[in-house]
Amino acid sequence: MTDVYIGLGSNLGDRLSYIQQAVKMLEFHDGIKMLETSSFYETEPYGVKDQDWFINAAVKISTEWTPVELLRICQHIESKLGRKREMRWGPRVIDLDILLYGDQIIADDILTIPHPATYDRACCIVPLLEIAEDVIHPILQRPMDDIYQNLEFPEEVYLYGTKPKEIT
Ligand code: ATP
Ligand code: CA
Ligand code: CA
Repeated sequence: MTDVYIGLGSNLGDRLSYIQQAVKMLEFHDGIKMLETSSFYETEPYGVKDQDWFINAAVKISTEWTPVELLRICQHIESKLGRKREMRWGPRVIDLDILLYGDQIIADDILTIPHPATYDRACCIVPLLEIAEDVIHPILQRPMDDIYQNLEFPEEVYLYGTKPKEIT
């Protein structure tokens, strides 16, 4: 069994419901044990700015599925929830990214682990921090907390329900 962190994001339709459904689908999936769930956050879009804010969360699971098997499970959940458009960083009802898979390092055509978002995206790192504060990033060899403190251009992140009204 390996401890794995998965990041979840949604910025289309009933964002909260999509995240909650995806968490449940992971939790009840064969071969996956749900260990921890972060709070939900509202985050400024990364990359493609002209789209609605996201809700992001992260979960810690324990699993025997291999990284590629787990990717297929995540993609199956995404399509069950109706994810269609495939523009990178564009709007989507649900996005599941494998952030960390134990301390494995993978770089091939199918998988990049640790996920690139773990280096520089506040929308990924803030939820992750809540449940992986002491985890050492396998490539950077620094705790997630330290990575967060040193982000150069962090996007805005608010705990769900605390985003000021003037921000659209
Ligand atoms: P990003 O990966 O930069 O956050 P994205 O989430 O918009 O962008 P997707 O369209 O969801 O990208 O996924 C594109 C491809 O990324 C997938 O087909 C998958 O093979 C690949 N991928 C590579 N590493 C990972 C990972 N760690 N977790 C999920 N998908 C990954
Ligand atoms: Ca993503
Ligand atoms: Ca993705």
